[in-house]
Amino acid sequence: MLTPTGAVCATHPDVAAVATCARCGGFLCGDCTELAGETPSCAPCVAVLRQEARPSRVIPVALALNVVGLASLPCSLYILALPTLVAGLVGVVLGMRELRRIARGEGAERGRTLARVTVVLGWVDLGLAAGWAAFVLEAAWSSR
Ligand SMILES: [Zn+2]
Ligand SMILES: [Zn+2]
Repeated sequence: MLTPTGAVCATHPDVAAVATCARCGGFLCGDCTELAGETPSCAPCVAVLRQEARPSRVIPVALALNVVGLASLPCSLYILALPTLVAGLVGVVLGMRELRRIARGEGAERGRTLARVTVVLGWVDLGLAAGWAAFVLEAAWSSR
C-alpha cells in the first residue's frame, strides 16, 4: 500500500489519496478507505470480499468432534477422558482461529455463531476432561 504523491481519491477528485485498494488498485482518500482485515480496500471490494468469504469447512468437523467427545465422555473416563480432551483442544484452537479470521475479514461473517459454539463446547470438553483427569490422578495419588 504505497501512498502515491499527487494522486487523488477516485470518488473525491479534490481530496488527496492516502491509500490504494488492495484488490482493484483504485486511489482512496481517508473517508473511502475500508479495511478488509489489515489491507486497505474500497467499499465495493470489501463487499465482494465479504460475499466471497466462505465459512471454514473445518468448523463443522471440529464441532461434530466435540459433540462426540462430550457424548463419549462416560466411555472414555477409563483412559483419563483423553478423547474428550483432544476433541476439546481441537474445538478451542480451530474455533478461535476461525473467529480471528472473521475478525480480519477473511472468514465469513455467518460462520461466527458456529465458531463461537465450537469454542464454548471445546472449553466444556476441556474442562470436563481436565477435571476428571485431576480427580483420577488425585485419587490414585492419595490411595498410595
Ligand atoms: Zn477496490
Ligand atoms: Zn474518497
